[in-house]
Amino acid sequence: MTRTDVAIIGGGIVGLATAFRLLERLPQARVVVLEKEREVGAHQTGHNSGVLHSGIYYKPGSLKAVNCREGKLAMQEFCEREEIPFEICGKVIVAVDESELPALEKIYERGVANGVRCEKIDRARLAELEPHANGVEAIWVPEAGIVDYKAVCARLAEKVQAAGGTLLTNAKVTKLERRVGAWILESTQGEIEAGFVVNRAGLHCDRIIRASGIRPGARIIPFRGEYYELKPEAHHLCRNLIYPVPDPKFPFLGVHFTRMIQGGVECGPNAVLAFAREGYRMRDINLRDLAGSLTYPGFLRMAARHWKTGFGEMWRSISKRAFVHALQRLVPDIREEHLEPAPAGVRAQAVTPDGKLVDDFLIIEGERIIHLNNAPSPAATASLNIGRLVVEKLAPSLVEV
Ligand SMILES: Cc1cc2nc3c(=O)[nH]c(=O)nc-3n(C[C@H](O)[C@H](O)[C@H](O)COP(=O)(O)OP(=O)(O)OC[C@H]3O[C@@H](n4cnc5c(N)ncnc54)[C@H](O)[C@@H]3O)c2cc1C
Repeated sequence: MTRTDVAIIGGGIVGLATAFRLLERLPQARVVVLEKEREVGAHQTGHNSGVLHSGIYYKPGSLKAVNCREGKLAMQEFCEREEIPFEICGKVIVAVDESELPALEKIYERGVANGVRCEKIDRARLAELEPHANGVEAIWVPEAGIVDYKAVCARLAEKVQAAGGTLLTNAKVTKLERRVGAWILESTQGEIEAGFVVNRAGLHCDRIIRASGIRPGARIIPFRGEYYELKPEAHHLCRNLIYPVPDPKFPFLGVHFTRMIQGGVECGPNAVLAFAREGYRMRDINLRDLAGSLTYPGFLRMAARHWKTGFGEMWRSISKRAFVHALQRLVPDIREEHLEPAPAGVRAQAVTPDGKLVDDFLIIEGERIIHLNNAPSPAATASLNIGRLVVEKLAPSLVEV
């Protein structure tokens, strides 16, 4: 049996950033990261929009707001130091008609309260920044940027191993057992005895919480986000990042245009129930996952409350024309023939039994175990700071050992 001071479940960007921060703070600590896939960053981290979020949207003082602001700076510094390409290209959040102005104003106020450099701009300035965007007013956020989180994740994995940490791939954690002063983790790569455990298993984190004997308090519901990519002849329609005013009822940002650091422009995502926790295509069905969503009172309550929005999202999933229609609100010149399908992502969204979508990051502390049960966007931007936060909680006990 392998013995370690800390076992981290999940080799996505947050798990690896936690291992990286831990070894930075306590270089002598023994750290093992267990990842069930054969490579790191295979799920949410490898399927996201690649945006370095500024922190403009989040409730001041929330974990999202604080960690996004500090995490973004840390991410930029890390990329600079490690020579990972990123670009601070700026973004516009666009009110397409007068009815969206009060919500736009709220976002602006949050941005100011969170210390984000942002500016309200009129139609003429919007036309200078994004000549093809349609709006009556907008917010210009010059400090938003783009990066390749899969590359960041791969570099974090290298740094963790160079600092003496162990990365076990093809290592699915199947069972957790509490012993005096330790946890025993059963995995597909053998047993591990760990003094402390960090659970960052993304789409499966609530199952790990349950396996550790704690009631998670919220279930992960997988929401697939589908994308199209602009064909090269339509790249001129988006210079950088064009976002709508999001519906404040949901933690999703609405379909947007994202220039990618690797080149090209992505459009999306929508948000539909995935029939499997890792269901990247409509035909991917896992009966356990699907039954887990459909029989969960929280999901049923949420669906009853938001069925109209849900059908709209599903319709955009089935009909390219409807998807294009949503995009045309922001960029009227876009046509169906400008778009080709791009890979989808699946968000791990925690939903409470009363049907609420958990908005903030959710950290649950147990005995010698820390779970992160909700780490949706902007957790990639914030990952290095979330890692630091988890290490601050763990370090005092680790030093005593
Ligand atoms: C469509 C989409 C767009 C997004 N856009 C952005 C964006 O532009 N900017 C931003 O900041 N954020 C964005 N996000 C959010 C961001 O990608 C995630 O918050 C972040 O990647 C979460 O990282 P993670 O390490 O927590 O999870 P993951 O990347 O999902 O990693 C969890 C890992 O745990 C592993 N695992 C699960 N169960 C087990 C087990 N039992 N044993 C061992 N390993 C296990 C999985 O294989 C996986 O690799 C987006 C997300 C999505 C889905």
